[in-house]
Order: sequence, then structure tokens, then C-alpha cells
Amino acid sequence: MDLYEPLNVIGSGSFGVIRKVRRKSDGKIFARKEIDYRKMSERERKQLVAEVNILRELRHPYIVRYFERHIDRENSMIYIIMEYCEGGDLAAVVRKAKKLGKRFSEDQIWNLLAQLLLALHECHHGASGKSGPHPPILHRDIKPDNVFLDSQNNAKLGDFGLSRLMDGSDFARTYVGTPFYMSPELISESAYNAKSDIWALGCVVYELCTLEPPFQGKTQSQLAARIQRGVIEPLSRDYSRELFQFMREMLRVKHERRPCTTILLEHPRIRQCLHLDQ
Ligand code: ADP
Ligand code: MG
Repeated sequence: MDLYEPLNVIGSGSFGVIRKVRRKSDGKIFARKEIDYRKMSERERKQLVAEVNILRELRHPYIVRYFERHIDRENSMIYIIMEYCEGGDLAAVVRKAKKLGKRFSEDQIWNLLAQLLLALHECHHGASGKSGPHPPILHRDIKPDNVFLDSQNNAKLGDFGLSRLMDGSDFARTYVGTPFYMSPELISESAYNAKSDIWALGCVVYELCTLEPPFQGKTQSQLAARIQRGVIEPLSRDYSRELFQFMREMLRVKHERRPCTTILLEHPRIRQCLHLDQ
């Protein structure tokens, strides 16, 4: 544990703080989740173990990399060492852009979208990565707060706190998340599937264009009604029709008709971003 020198706290999560740390052996910087497990219920402990086990399976350039964990029994602390994402989370970047009256460029948005689709593809169909095949993993809580940026502004999908391995059945029940990014099927059937992650990602990308979530409401039920109608406002002229159409596909109300990552990754613009045609 004292292999790492503690630096400043960079965030606070549901289980504890996130701290920047420096590995003493080589000076490399990491992010460390610091969790006091005394305060956790049995259920939360199980969730944490599940999260760590999921993270271990995922090795992908656009997924926040998990390295190791340490248990400090004396102080009842668990330390999770992760890749440090210098650019912070996307929610903070969106807030900053809003404050400064700035916009994401069309190219930036396609790039982030392509990277996040690839990350999600690894979760849903993962067999491509170095980690080898694994059962489908649903993220369940895709939102700007859980997308991170590295020093090169590459997207990294993170915070798999709510995800759980799909247990073979199509629908994995029970969900708690931010209602803005909640899919229609979650509202009407309280059911979550891989397409619900696609919906949430569609919402995130729309938010990159307008700096606001696509569906909002004064009340929970107004928000729910708008999500179930699934009508999104057109984008400003800064963005192409092509981008708007793409988001419309991701935001199809009927999850059966909403494309999966395999289909979405075939789009020429996405392939171009990922240099898949060379
Ligand atoms: P929670 O499960 O409570 O949402 P997160 O894992 O999302 O916790 O972390 C909370 C915050 O800490 C993030 O929104 C972000 O600002 C910061 N953070 C978390 N992980 C990292 C990381 N790997 N690199 C940089 N900042 C991080
Ligand atoms: Mg989070």
C-alpha cells in the first residue's frame, strides 16, 4: 500500500473518495478509489466485489483500466488502483463549456461517439480485447459523469458500479440511475438490456451537441412522458444532418428497433474515426 504516494483528492464517489496517487517505483500517476468498508452494508460490499471483478475483465483502450486492489484490514479500507484520466469527467467538461459559451466541434463529437461505441461493444460483445471473451456486461449507468477523458482527450468509459454480468436471461432487473438517461423500456417494463446502454449513450452524445440532456421535465412523470415519446429537438446548424440521424437511431423508442453496437460501428463516419478502413 505504501507503494503509492497519496496526492490530492480528485473526486468523491458513492463509496468514498478518489485520490490521485504516484507509484513510488516509477513516478507513474494513478487514480485510487478509497473505500471504508466498515460503513458498507453486506449488499454494498457484494456490489463492490462484483464491480472489481467486472473491471478486471475489461481491458480496452476506451475503458478506464483497473490495475489492482489492496485491502488494509487494520483500517478497514479497500484501495482500487485505476488508470488516471487527466481530462476528468465529461459532466465537468460540459459544465465548463456551458459556462464559457463554448461548443464541441462536430469532429470531436464523432470521435468521442466512435470511441464510446467501441468501449460499449467490448462490454456487450467482448471477445475482441486482450482480456479475451467474457459474458456480456451491461454498464447500466452511462451518463456524462461516468465518461472520462485522458490527456489526449480520448474517451474512457468508467464507473461500472452498477453493472452486473448478465445472467443469461435477456433482462437484468432492478436499476437505480439518473432519470435523464433512463430508457423508455426501463420506464414501461422496468427492464434493462444492452439497448438501454445504447439509449443512454445517445443521450450523452446529444448532450455534447446542445450541452443539455435531450429529455428533461419539471417532474419525474413529465420526464418519463417525454422519454416515452422520444421526440428530440433538432440541433443547431453547427451540426450535420448525418449526426442528428445517427442519434435518432440510438434514441429509437422501441428497443427492438434500436441498433446494437455492431450495426452502429458500421457507419462510415464512425469507421473513419476509428481508422477501420485503412
Ligand atoms: P461513483 O461511483 O460514486 O459515481 P466515480 O467512479 O464515478 O464514483 O468517481 C467519482 C468522481 O471521481 C468522478 O466523477 C471523477 O470526477 C473522479 N474520478 C473517478 N475516477 C477517476 C479516474 N480514473 N481519473 C480521474 N478522475 C476520476
Ligand atoms: Mg460516477
